[in-house]
Amino acid sequence: MARVFNFSAGPAMLPQAVIEQAQQELLEWNGSGMSVMEMSHRGKDYMSIAEKAEADLREVMNIPANYKVLFLQGGASSQFAMVPMNLLRGKDKADYIVTGSWGKKAIAEARRYCNVNVAFDASADSGKFTFAPAQGDLKLSADAAYVHYTPNETIEGVEFTYVPETNGIPLVADMSSTILSRPIDVSKYGVIYAGAQKNIGPAGLTVVIVREDLIGEVVEHTPTMFNYEIHAKNDSMYNTPPTYSWYLAGLVFEWLKQGGGLDKMAETNKRKADKLYAAIDGSGFYANPVAPDCRSWMNVPFTLANPELDALFLDEAKEADLVTLKGHRSVGGMRASIYNAMPEEGVDALVSFMADFEKRNG
Ligand SMILES: *Cc1c(COP(=O)(O)O)cnc(C)c1O
Repeated sequence: MARVFNFSAGPAMLPQAVIEQAQQELLEWNGSGMSVMEMSHRGKDYMSIAEKAEADLREVMNIPANYKVLFLQGGASSQFAMVPMNLLRGKDKADYIVTGSWGKKAIAEARRYCNVNVAFDASADSGKFTFAPAQGDLKLSADAAYVHYTPNETIEGVEFTYVPETNGIPLVADMSSTILSRPIDVSKYGVIYAGAQKNIGPAGLTVVIVREDLIGEVVEHTPTMFNYEIHAKNDSMYNTPPTYSWYLAGLVFEWLKQGGGLDKMAETNKRKADKLYAAIDGSGFYANPVAPDCRSWMNVPFTLANPELDALFLDEAKEADLVTLKGHRSVGGMRASIYNAMPEEGVDALVSFMADFEKRNG
C-alpha cells in the first residue's frame, strides 16, 4: 500500500521525511538505548530534544525574546478557556471577531468568564461565513482586555490578509490551521495558539506563544493546569508534557528550516492554493463561495454543480489515492486541506482528477 495524498483538515499529513526519520529513531534514539516515547521528560536526552524543538521554532518564526513558547496539551479548544482565564487581568470584557465556526466556539467559552463584545460577525447578514471584515468595519471597544480572532477559519476556508490593528490592546490569534504557513510578525500579537495536528505535528500537542508581560494574573479558581504562569515557570514541564508529539513537532521545525524556512513555505503554499482556486474558478462545475481576497491558502472548500455527484466524486478520488476530501458537515461539498506537508504533486493530482471528473460528469 502506497501513501496517499491525504486532504484531511486535521489530523493532517506530516512530511514524509519526518515520518521516515521518526521511523529510523523509533526503537532507539541517538545512543540513548530507548525510544523517545520511553524517556523521562526530565532526563538529559529528552531535555535536549525539547530545547532544540523550541529553539528551532523560535528561529523559524523569528519569535522575539520577550515571548514564552509553551508546549501544552488540551488542544486549541482548551485555549478557548485559557485565554480569558489568563488575559482578562482584572477586566471583564473581551472583543471577538468572528469569521467562522471556530471563532464562534471561542466566544461560547469566553462568555463563561467575561462579557464578550462581538466586534464583527461575518455571518450576520447571510448566515454564512464567506469573508473577513475590513479593519474599518471592526467595532472594537476601548476597555477590552484583549481582541481575539481566527486568522484562518478551517471549516469555511476564510482567511485574513492583514493583522487587525487594536491600538495597544493585546491581540490573540487562534492560528491552529495557518501557523507556519508563511512568515508573520509575532510582535504584533499578545498570544498565538495552535493545536498541533494541522501544521505542526501530531495531535496531543498545543503550542502557545505568549508575550511575557501578559502572564501572571489569572481569574479566581483557574485550575493550575490552565495557568500560563505555571507552564512558563516550569518550561512546560509542570507535569508530563506530550513528549512524543513535542519530539515530532521538533522534526517538523527542522524540516522547515532545511526547506528554506517560512518564506519558501509561503511561496509554495501560495502556488498550491492559486492552482486549486484557478481550477475551481475556471471550471463552471466547481465553486468556492469565499470572497476571492479572503480565500484560505490552507483549507479550500468547494462544491460540485450537482451535489448528487458528491459520493461518486469521493469514491473515484479515493481510487486515485486522493482521500479525506469530504467537506465539513456544516458546509457540505468538498474541502481540500493543503497544509505545509501536502506536496505540490498532491495538489496537481487533485486538479487533474477534478478536470477529468468534470469532463465525464459535467
Ligand atoms: C482544529 C481547530 C481547532 C480545534 O482544535 P483542537 O486542537 O481539536 O481543540 C480550533 N481552532 C481552529 C482554527 C482549528 O482549525
